[in-house]
Amino acid sequence: MEILILLGAPGSGKGTAAGFIAGQGGFTHISTGDMFREAIRRRTAAGREADRHMGGGDLVPDDMVMAMIRERLSWDPPRTRYVFDGFPRTVPQAALLDRHLGKESGRILAVILLDVPSEVLAVRLTGRRVCPACGAIFHTANRPPRQEGVCDACGGSLIRRDDDHETTIRRRLDVYRQRTEGLVEYYETRHLLRRIDASGPPADVHRDLARHLDLPGEAAPC
Ligand code: AMP
Repeated sequence: MEILILLGAPGSGKGTAAGFIAGQGGFTHISTGDMFREAIRRRTAAGREADRHMGGGDLVPDDMVMAMIRERLSWDPPRTRYVFDGFPRTVPQAALLDRHLGKESGRILAVILLDVPSEVLAVRLTGRRVCPACGAIFHTANRPPRQEGVCDACGGSLIRRDDDHETTIRRRLDVYRQRTEGLVEYYETRHLLRRIDASGPPADVHRDLARHLDLPGEAAPC
């Protein structure tokens, strides 16, 4: 298996970038946040446990995340290429992933850091609206749907994520600085890290991603 990792603070656009990479480059998109939200919706034991941590903006424990990832990776043929969005999120998770890849003869192709200043992150997170039915992501100011509150892709009703409210957003940004930012050095020392300025609109970010990853790129709008 081959893996691309997207690293970045909440609101840096990992989900949108991963969707683009999956569509253009034939990668399977894995979002641990989406997997936990699905487990919560289905009220599984893992979902109940994850909900206790996610609701307050904290991270789910490393061993639980890794167990879920191992299980998910076991579904696919060995040569699958993945784009990881939101995993790993701590240095211990990165070390567990390395160990797993060692056993499975897998490798990390690159780690893309989506760089966004913190003022921009806060604005993005408060305006973010998501479609629970198909996963499409919108923004009240930067990427509004054609009809307010309605998903352009599937017609579902858009919602604000439970953890996209002001106090939880602040907590999630603190948790990113304390627990996730250490991964920048972890992957820099392994010569895997590439930085992308992700403060602009998605089309600019996609163009840079396509260039860095040698993807076909986005078709120009008609
Ligand atoms: P995301 O959709 O990636 O912003 O994730 C939403 C929430 O899910 C996070 O704030 C965490 O509570 C939890 N989560 C997602 N991925 C991980 C991970 N790799 N490690 C720990 N917690 C995670």
